[in-house]
Amino acid sequence: MTPPPVKPPAKALSGPQKALHKLGLARDIDLALHLPLRYEDETRITRLADAREGSVVQIEARITACEVSPGGRRQLLVTVDDGSDTCTLRFFTFYPALKKALAVGNTILARGEIKGGFMGWTMMHPSFHAAGGDLPTALTPVYPTVAGLPQAYLRKAVMGALKRTDLSETIPADILDKNSPWPSWNLRSSLSFLHHPTPAVALATLEDHSHPAWQRLKGEELLAQQLSQLQAKRERERLRAPVLHSLRDTTQPAQRRPLHEQLLAALPFTLTAAQQRVSEEIARDLARHIPMHRLLQGDVGSGKTVVAALAAAICIDAGWQCALMAPTEILAAQHFTKLVDWLKPLGVKTAWLTGGQKAKERRETLALIESGEAGLVIGTHAIIQDKVVFKNLALAIIDEQHRFGVAQRLALRSKLADAEQEPHLLMMTATPIPRTLAMSYYADLDVSTIDELPPGRTPIITKVVNDARRDEVIQRIRAQLAEGRQIYWVCPLIEESEALDLTNATETHAHLSAALPGVLVGLLHSRMPAAEKKAVMALFSSGQMGVLVSTTVIEVGVDVPNASLMVIEHAERFGLSQLHQLRGRVGRGAAASACVLLYSTGDAPRLGETARARLKAMADTNDGFEIARRDLEIRGPGEFLGARQSGAAMLRFADLATDTALLEWAREAAPRMLDQHPALADQHVQRWLGGRAAYLKA
Ligand code: ADP
Ligand code: MG
Repeated sequence: MTPPPVKPPAKALSGPQKALHKLGLARDIDLALHLPLRYEDETRITRLADAREGSVVQIEARITACEVSPGGRRQLLVTVDDGSDTCTLRFFTFYPALKKALAVGNTILARGEIKGGFMGWTMMHPSFHAAGGDLPTALTPVYPTVAGLPQAYLRKAVMGALKRTDLSETIPADILDKNSPWPSWNLRSSLSFLHHPTPAVALATLEDHSHPAWQRLKGEELLAQQLSQLQAKRERERLRAPVLHSLRDTTQPAQRRPLHEQLLAALPFTLTAAQQRVSEEIARDLARHIPMHRLLQGDVGSGKTVVAALAAAICIDAGWQCALMAPTEILAAQHFTKLVDWLKPLGVKTAWLTGGQKAKERRETLALIESGEAGLVIGTHAIIQDKVVFKNLALAIIDEQHRFGVAQRLALRSKLADAEQEPHLLMMTATPIPRTLAMSYYADLDVSTIDELPPGRTPIITKVVNDARRDEVIQRIRAQLAEGRQIYWVCPLIEESEALDLTNATETHAHLSAALPGVLVGLLHSRMPAAEKKAVMALFSSGQMGVLVSTTVIEVGVDVPNASLMVIEHAERFGLSQLHQLRGRVGRGAAASACVLLYSTGDAPRLGETARARLKAMADTNDGFEIARRDLEIRGPGEFLGARQSGAAMLRFADLATDTALLEWAREAAPRMLDQHPALADQHVQRWLGGRAAYLKA
């Protein structure tokens, strides 16, 4: 097949136009919202006699001499006189046109940093133009730009856009109540001002964005974000989902207890108060005809799996199917083992679906799912492939939701064959979302939080140890092994090279095997065949294997309560939440557990600042919420949002760390605006988010 011919664009873009598109400044509103980096003051002229050493000044002066200096380094020396004093302008690169513009007798405006000295005032490479004409009355904006897009072109483009684009008020007076911190500003006046501020403004208030014009912009942006999420929520509330009652069905024989009650009775433990509370929140959602859209957050080891199993039980009991999707095969396999263990005795058939299955096995599994015989389906991304057809999917559970993209979430939602309905969605995460993020980016999500660990856990003690003391660590491993305990040893993440990761893990494995004679030391890495991985995990789970060396494949979900020591090699290369997740693999039994963070400074004398901050946070606290808060501090919000950040859904002006008051206002104002002024709300969202609005809603 030959590809269709590529059509040339209707009208070729000029260089600067292309550069504008590259900067994402295609629409007038985008240009209007492209704010200056800083400003230059060309509104005033300073007399040379009044100039201060080292300040940036604009002078108006007549050229009295212009010559190329003799000697080694050629430069153009231009002497100017403004009647109060003289100054030498120095140009190291110059060309004929420059010399012509700087001819003796011309009067120019020159702007630059002025220096005093033995020879009198000098300016290096000042910007200049011929004098005459009025001075500007506003500060001159300097915009962020790219090569091929001159400031002058950009200034004109912005100016034109500001004139053309519709900046009419979208926020009615009753929404902009007396609590708004910027009562006398609107979008038009704020933008006009920020592009061309009057010289009297305190520049510091523009730099730290505390000026009311900035506050207004940030408030508008946050309001748009809140509105768009609220719209998404209301759209979802118009959809229908299967009603999944957890109550006893009176048409059933009296002796038949609901499945989730049977499961509770069969568990070897009782739920914590937090598990009970979140289970009830979920059960309430499932019993409504509106699709659930809930995030279940709980620290590693807080017991999210059983909460998921209870939700699945309610769904299956009501005669519908449930799917549980996990980001890695190991994690999915753990869920499978555990849930089959719990649910099979109660008569639930569970199907297992991953990418690596043989054709025949796969065909059989797909048939089980399509016929509805499998009430529960557990697997990896394989679940959302087109070929997988459910008979009646009513509940989709996603573990470690931040590992999945929006598209994958949408694909799962579309798996309910009946187009009139959507399945309920339960997302789980061990990385708690800091409060301000939950209030902004996740405003359309209902959140359930497990805020306590099951009883009997002893806190993990974390030690940060220089790699030079590795032998002492191995000594400690021996002591733990002697007590019948098991050990995880996690090898570094080397982003550039999977092969290097592997070499490192293999070497450590060989070294530990030699250092620990008579101990079964296993190796686990992502490129092993699935069957081999499973065999290694089985040996470790059963306690036969004393030490498990692995790359980060064990990061999520692995559950071996007898493991009491975790060593993380090159801990300085891991992110904070990843370290916390890894550490959560130990401390699951009653024995005191420890985590050793081995670090190496390489050729440097000491660790970098952020690496040190991360390791310190780990040593300071076991609390996942505190870790998340520090992580937000160290990395900024981008990384938390995972797939949400792509599609440029990030806030451009507001800063969640400092603009909490504005965020509170926007949260309070959004529902009122949507109820009382729906058309304006639409206009506001379109203006601020344009095509990105749909993305934010997924
Ligand atoms: P996570 O939230 O990290 O997914 P898991 O669901 O894997 O945590 O639970 C961690 C361990 O705690 C598992 O061994 C699980 O069986 C156990 N567990 C869960 N809930 C309780 C409870 N209420 N009491 C005792 N142990 C529990
Ligand atoms: Mg888990």
